[in-house]
Amino acid sequence: MTVTESFAKPQEEPEWIRRQSTVLELTCDNDAAAIGRSLYAICGTETTYCEICGHESLLWPCYEWADHIRTVHADFLTLEAKDNYSQMCEPELNQAQTMFFWIQFAMRVSMRRRAWLFDQVRPVASESRVHLPS
Ligand SMILES: [Zn+2]
Repeated sequence: MTVTESFAKPQEEPEWIRRQSTVLELTCDNDAAAIGRSLYAICGTETTYCEICGHESLLWPCYEWADHIRTVHADFLTLEAKDNYSQMCEPELNQAQTMFFWIQFAMRVSMRRRAWLFDQVRPVASESRVHLPS
């Protein structure tokens, strides 16, 4: 079943897909490579748009859109913003990227649905955060 096909059967979905307060944890092994693969699977073909020019990029990996902003719009960025975008461009998963993922995951039902369809997360309790293994 694809993510799109699942829109037709919302009654079969677990409630946590639409309840942002449910704490979820990744089902993968607790190592960087496994977490990276899981985040790729959850993000799928999600896209985002540059808030300056509207350029469309894949949401994940985040270095694609972050590098676009950092390089194409460098003249518009403060030093702090350049540093923040540089963190999003680092090849190893870091805290900034993890936080970005968490925010997007909380906002996008499509990502939670994909995580469910691909068995990438499981509910832990009812709080307002996602637990990523460290
Ligand atoms: Zn742009």
